Amino acid sequence: MDCRLGCGACCIAPSITTPIPGMPKGKPAGVRCIQLTDDNLCRLFGAPERPRVCLAFSATADVCGTSAEEAIWLITSLEQLTQ
Ligand code: SF4
Ligand code: SF4
Repeated sequence: MDCRLGCGACCIAPSITTPIPGMPKGKPAGVRCIQLTDDNLCRLFGAPERPRVCLAFSATADVCGTSAEEAIWLITSLEQLTQ
């Protein structure tokens, strides 16, 4: 599937353990990435500073669901299962 522009769920719900510009220790689950704009777009899109983990993440129906709310729920559930 194509990423829903303006969704941003994968930049909020999961924890990220690698450094993000402006968040040197990464981010906890459920916290907005500092690089996520008010429109829920990535400020670093296409930039070399964008974390590799973000480049590696691609939209799939089982993770992204059909709405941002569903994606937050799915990603949060997956994160809790894998802890
Ligand atoms: S959760 Fe999926 S649809 Fe939403 S921004 Fe991330 S990749 Fe795109
Ligand atoms: S760096 Fe960009 S893609 Fe990665 S979590 Fe932050 S806003 Fe999302």
